[in-house]
Amino acid sequence: MVNMSVIDKSNVVRVAIQRPIYKLLDYRCNISPLPDVGCRLRVPLGNSVVTALVVENNVESEFKNLKDVIEVLDDKPLINNAMMELLNWASSYYFYPLGEVLFHALPVALRKGKQVPKLRLWHTNRLGKIFSLDDLNRAPKQKSMLEMLQKGEVGEQRLDDVFGKTWRNILKQLDKKKLVEFREVDADFTPSKNQENIPEKNQVTLTEEQQQSVSSIGGYFQEEKPKPVLLHGITGSGKTEVYLRAIESILDSDKQVLVLVPEIGLTPQLLYRFKEHFPQYSVATLHSGLADGERLRVWLGAKSGAIKIIIGTRSAVFTPMKNLGAIFIDEEHDASFKQQEGFLYQGRDMAIKRAHDLSVPVLLGSATPSLESLHNVNKKRYHYLRLASRPGTSKRPEMVVQDVRALPLEAGISSLMMSEIRTHIQNKNQVMIFLNRRGFAPVLMCPSCGWHAVCHHCEMGMTYHAAARQVICHHCGIEEQVKPTCPECNSNKLTTQGQGTERIEEILSSHFPETSVIRIDRDSTSKKGSLEKKLQQVHKGEPVILIGTQMLTKGHDFPKLTLVGILDVDQALFSTDYRAQERLAQQVLQVSGRAGRGEQKGRVVLQTSQPEHPLLIALLSKGYSKVSKDILNERKLWHYPPYGAQALIRVSADNEKRGGDFLNKITSSLRFQLEMDQLEEHVDLLGPIASPLAKRANRYRFQLLVSSNQRGQLHAIMEQALSLLIQSRRMGGVRWVIDIDPMDFL
Ligand code: ADP
Ligand code: ZN
Ligand code: ZN
Repeated sequence: MVNMSVIDKSNVVRVAIQRPIYKLLDYRCNISPLPDVGCRLRVPLGNSVVTALVVENNVESEFKNLKDVIEVLDDKPLINNAMMELLNWASSYYFYPLGEVLFHALPVALRKGKQVPKLRLWHTNRLGKIFSLDDLNRAPKQKSMLEMLQKGEVGEQRLDDVFGKTWRNILKQLDKKKLVEFREVDADFTPSKNQENIPEKNQVTLTEEQQQSVSSIGGYFQEEKPKPVLLHGITGSGKTEVYLRAIESILDSDKQVLVLVPEIGLTPQLLYRFKEHFPQYSVATLHSGLADGERLRVWLGAKSGAIKIIIGTRSAVFTPMKNLGAIFIDEEHDASFKQQEGFLYQGRDMAIKRAHDLSVPVLLGSATPSLESLHNVNKKRYHYLRLASRPGTSKRPEMVVQDVRALPLEAGISSLMMSEIRTHIQNKNQVMIFLNRRGFAPVLMCPSCGWHAVCHHCEMGMTYHAAARQVICHHCGIEEQVKPTCPECNSNKLTTQGQGTERIEEILSSHFPETSVIRIDRDSTSKKGSLEKKLQQVHKGEPVILIGTQMLTKGHDFPKLTLVGILDVDQALFSTDYRAQERLAQQVLQVSGRAGRGEQKGRVVLQTSQPEHPLLIALLSKGYSKVSKDILNERKLWHYPPYGAQALIRVSADNEKRGGDFLNKITSSLRFQLEMDQLEEHVDLLGPIASPLAKRANRYRFQLLVSSNQRGQLHAIMEQALSLLIQSRRMGGVRWVIDIDPMDFL
């Protein structure tokens, strides 16, 4: 006899929800036809109602008493099959729950369960099509609207543009006469009237090198299974110009292009160059600075195909594209492509995977390519193109190391550096001083009793920010107002030690009262539009002194900038992180690349108390290609990435012992399993140890590094680690996350 409670599989859907759980849930759905994979639902969960995404339908469920779906939110999938596969891959590659991954790929508005906004497109019906316009001579507006609709479908936005406020009334009259009909589509980004008035630009003539790159790219992009292309071009060599030309033919064949950049700071300038080059195509940006509604519109516009070029940061890699023709990744080496919280994916790697799955070409550009990419070139997995010179009269900047051990310093700036700045400013040029530390000073202390400001949530020093009169913890972000007296001994002589950008700004302003000193860092650009304003001021070309953190190192093109001063690289020279050397080499060259991009030669002065350090010497005398080869050889010796693969298990807890015990237990079980499976030889477990940043925001932090010289092996081990982590009984307050291909070990 058939058990009536057995559920017919034709009405069961399997869904993922946005929760950190590694399982999928089944629901009964009495709505027919069943919602497609990729549609959102509202489903009951415990005592609440949550948004869910269908990942499978017609499911044979092992459970009998399934709850019912409350509502289907989408009539069409938000995530298509190819994207679904990519996200499934990402979930298993990064060991992150599928639901979290899927919802991460949606704009915030849709994650929250908002409806996709609809738009009406109007057209004439059978009668309207043949209706004689002359019959409307007495209603000229209706006549002209009907005439427009007879020519084809028109969106409401366009009707508003053409007919002004009364468009709705006019349309109502036509509707009453039964001449028009509409269909509803997802509202998307309709490129609005050209508000920007970007002047038409004369095409630059490509240099020989650029021309060759463009034509090689054209060839590579035609491959049936295109290999990624690495474009290694020194700063200012005109890579962006090469992207633009390479993109032309893709757009002309009616396809879309996705351009990924590391930071929002780069998007306004790049957006401008793209709009200037492609006035006939719609270009839009996607980044975290956009309001939810705007983000949704752009996302939908890319999905419908209305937007041809999307320029975006890391998460834009998940943008649905109707007809993707190529992906470009600018500054591919940049660490900010790696997400540092939650879903710890590498945006560049996701982009390469996406392109690969779709057999779509991908181009990676950088002046200082990541060692991973260079390794892939060596292995012939990527094509390699080189731009070794700057166009026109612009030359590579001259770089000098300045030994500061015997020089007087003021706020960390040497007297020689000060006079260099003076010379360049007197010559009516611009200067940039680079220091990767914001705030006024990293230490606020009392000389009488030795007290210094410490964050009690992280047990690390707090940075003094003079403008806000606050100390801020750069690890957890907590802010405290600074009192005029020492909290321990009441002395009123608090002092600071060391310097950040604010202090440099103060000193340089006092030395150069006639010159504008512009500081660009996270604090000075937090207000919307303030970065653009500052950049505009620099672009005027008058002498200015720019002070900045790494925000300033990338992509910017300031033709009048002739001097770059780099303060304080010494810390990075002694870092224990094996990636520090690569990062430092990249950073120094990227900052240096801002100098001498115009007609005059640039000069880079690097202040250090370690002038004999081999890395600095190699960097200055031999350049990046040689340095990267050396670092690669070293990595090979140690089986470090890219010659091996790594994963980090990170644990944190509000109780130190609980956190430590938990990871200890996991580690012993994992070791035991490795022995059982006779895998010890292929895998190294390093730890568990307290993380270098042992406490952060009141949580104690621990880590276990798992390395293997084979990626497959590493993933097999991490599979086991994951099930141990899921099964282990966790005392309250203990959290863990797996970080695949970790970029930092803090
Ligand atoms: P990159 O992206 O490699 O740092 P850009 O593409 O920003 O370099 O180019 C640097 C500067 O050189 C820009 O101002 C750009 O307009 C200019 N430029 C690029 N190619 C040429 C060329 N062939 N002739 C003249 N100027 C060029
Ligand atoms: Zn004191
Ligand atoms: Zn803190």
